[in-house]
Amino acid sequence: MNGIITGEQERYRKLAMFQEETPRGIMCRICPNECVLKEGEVSDCRNRIVRNSKLYTMAFGNPCSANVDPIEKKPLYHFLPGSRAFSIATAGCNLVCLNCQNWSISQTSPDKTRNYDLPPERVVEESIRNKCRTIAYTYSEPVTFYEYAYETAVLARNAGIKNVFKSNGYINPEPLKKLCSVLDAANIDLKSFNDATYLKLTGGKLQPVLDALKIYKDMGVWLEITNLIVPTWTDNTEEIDKMCKWLSENGFKETPLHFSRFYPIHKLEQLPPTPVEVLRNASKIAAGEGLKYVYIGNVPGNEMADTKCPYCGSTVVARQGYRITVNNITDGKCSKCKKIIDGVWS
Ligand code: SF4
Repeated sequence: MNGIITGEQERYRKLAMFQEETPRGIMCRICPNECVLKEGEVSDCRNRIVRNSKLYTMAFGNPCSANVDPIEKKPLYHFLPGSRAFSIATAGCNLVCLNCQNWSISQTSPDKTRNYDLPPERVVEESIRNKCRTIAYTYSEPVTFYEYAYETAVLARNAGIKNVFKSNGYINPEPLKKLCSVLDAANIDLKSFNDATYLKLTGGKLQPVLDALKIYKDMGVWLEITNLIVPTWTDNTEEIDKMCKWLSENGFKETPLHFSRFYPIHKLEQLPPTPVEVLRNASKIAAGEGLKYVYIGNVPGNEMADTKCPYCGSTVVARQGYRITVNNITDGKCSKCKKIIDGVWS
């Protein structure tokens, strides 16, 4: 893909990390796409360009979105419940999901969105001013604005603010490990458990996402996983079972799993919303495989948005939309049976 950056946008260019010269051009090693670009070419994620034989990220300090969100919106249910997250994104994504909810910013480039002038130090200042305990790198795909996220996260950590990623998990191990050293939590989309479906639905592969999940966990980042159930694409019971078995056998029993309801959007507008029964069935499969914290998301007013103590069954956190209505966790434990509830609670 070719593209020319003109005018204002050039101010926000910054030398990209993890670039490598190859005989075919400059390679970006941040994600498994491993784009190799010649002079003037723009990356698959639309966020990087080669100029004078060097790779540059295009929107460093120039996000198209900057909002204060409840942390529950990511969704992160076991991480500082009821707190606020200063949430930023630039245009671009390294996948091309047919069902993308944020396609208007993810499937375009930073020179085509309306952007803010928000360098890392100002993101931290705004977070403090807005009483946000965390900064969330979210909405589009933060892997594609890696340098901006990383530098902001370093400053945030020094200022006592936590960092969270909402991501597709499509990232190479080396950049992920560096990133994990400054991240506190992540919600990662596991979009399917079938490689052929992954490719058709998202343009990516399954294995790198599974590898990324293990790295997040091994590096001590609090992790939650979202699986969007798309009718006819990812609602196959056997595949859901396979996914839950893999999670159970690979050390993710304590990792919250959010089954999320699909609504018709983008290139899958012709499909119906996921039947609630399908989501309930998936959550029973997950519980049957020993996963301790299973949620149903995008279904207003459903009791499966609450956290139940896996030992005594009492409701430890109740939610209404993004609002916390009950919090019965004291010192990280169920106030009734006193057993530990996995998460970061204060
Ligand atoms: S992050 Fe962007 S430029 Fe780098 S490999 Fe992935 S898609 Fe290509």
